[in-house]
Amino acid sequence: MQQQEQARLERRRRDLMRKGMAVNQALVTLKANQNAKLLDLKLPHERKPGMTKEEKLRRFLDQIIRAQRSLGTDAYGICVDCQQPLPQAALDDTPWLEQCDGCAAKESTDF
Ligand SMILES: [Zn+2]
Repeated sequence: MQQQEQARLERRRRDLMRKGMAVNQALVTLKANQNAKLLDLKLPHERKPGMTKEEKLRRFLDQIIRAQRSLGTDAYGICVDCQQPLPQAALDDTPWLEQCDGCAAKESTDF
């Protein structure tokens, strides 16, 4: 079990690193006035509509960095809105997740 947890942690750490690099690369591409393809990055849903590509990327990068910092601590995997633990399967899929489905759904109906 301990070993399994360790493997899971390592996998998430690696996924976060990879994603962080991909988002960073997209930012560099954008800065060079080239057309960065954001679709492949599967950005988290927008909290504020009307953000520029760069703002979206920066926000995503911040989110990834926050996850990297909290990974392995009690603060990791907790919904930022309702403070409930996020499902492990969802975190395996997207280790940078910071909001549960319920809160995300509530938020998108606000607009
Ligand atoms: Zn929540």
